[in-house]
Amino acid sequence: MSKQNIVILGSTGSIGVNTLKVVERFKDKFRLIGISAAGTNIKLLKAQADRFKPRFVSVYDRKGAEELKRRTKKVKVFSGLDGVCRLACLKEVDTVVISIAGGIALLPLLEVIKANKKIALANKESLVVAGHIVTEQLRKNPKAQIIPIDSEQSAIFQCLKGYDHNMINCLYLTASGGPLVDYKKSQLKNVLPKEALSHPRWKMGRKITIDSATFMNKGLEVIEARWLFNMPLNKIKVIIHKEAIIHSLVEFLDGSILGQLGVTDMKLPIQYALSFPERWHSNGQLRLDLSKLKSLSFRQPDSKKFPCLELAYYAASKNNMLPCVLNAANEEAVHAFLDHRIIFTKIPYVIDKLLKKHKSLKDSSRLSDLLELDQETRMQARELIRKLAKK
Ligand code: MG
Repeated sequence: MSKQNIVILGSTGSIGVNTLKVVERFKDKFRLIGISAAGTNIKLLKAQADRFKPRFVSVYDRKGAEELKRRTKKVKVFSGLDGVCRLACLKEVDTVVISIAGGIALLPLLEVIKANKKIALANKESLVVAGHIVTEQLRKNPKAQIIPIDSEQSAIFQCLKGYDHNMINCLYLTASGGPLVDYKKSQLKNVLPKEALSHPRWKMGRKITIDSATFMNKGLEVIEARWLFNMPLNKIKVIIHKEAIIHSLVEFLDGSILGQLGVTDMKLPIQYALSFPERWHSNGQLRLDLSKLKSLSFRQPDSKKFPCLELAYYAASKNNMLPCVLNAANEEAVHAFLDHRIIFTKIPYVIDKLLKKHKSLKDSSRLSDLLELDQETRMQARELIRKLAKK
């Protein structure tokens, strides 16, 4: 079998690092063409370049790109967002792993679809912000294909294989609940970033871990699933499953429910996205010992304690612009919380205020309109956060 030529966008993040482990384990199946990163961790990026010897490295930050060029002469270095797109769209590339966090991944995603690549997608914000535009681009480029890496979407993707769309009754996205799920509502205002960052099940990047604590992560996944699986919002349900063993489920018309079980390790959905439609032999680490499972529990999320999930349903049900507002306000609020500028309970407050401000926006399928709205919302969110911080 010929090797897959692969590029990893966001190689120094948590998914990127795990993807490189998968690539290393299945050395005979991949040729790593390039890696890209924001440039906040040049030391790790240089170490990855030395170890995996890709021909190209792209660094979003131009200063970081210059630094990498000084440190190594062995690779060709691109920079900026156009550098990311250039790397991902190289002719010889078959598969692009998109594991950049945040809405910034949208442009590279659209370019990669236009270039008809196989995409292993870990970024959820791009689908949240512009699912209608991404779906339309996929329709125009039927050779491009998105295989989700997000564990819940991967589970649903696997459960749906072989079934017609009209046989589905609903999707169940499971939520581990994050580190604060059992806190009382009154305790949440005193939560420190350190507590919100200590996720009991998954080891992930900082932004997504806070999203997990607020339940916004599940809200973003509801919107993501809507576009990935062409499902109406009222057929996408969320259920808390603290053990995080069942990664999501599909209920069919006859009442049968299929779920995908596995260890809590992102290498498994990453490997599946890269091996699809095949399955490759995993080592012991990725095997689940059923005899050691004591119980599997399920319960409803508490929207009074964690309003972000309902804010996401609301935004997605209104029009195609509000999810962009939701995402931009959330990104700004999460960063402000991580920097100790606002308290935990102000994250949904900021998002709610911004959604209300923009609730009667007209739909647009122009990317430029969305990018403008994104910038405008971020500015408004920062202003609101400044006011809240003074109080
Ligand atoms: Mg997930």
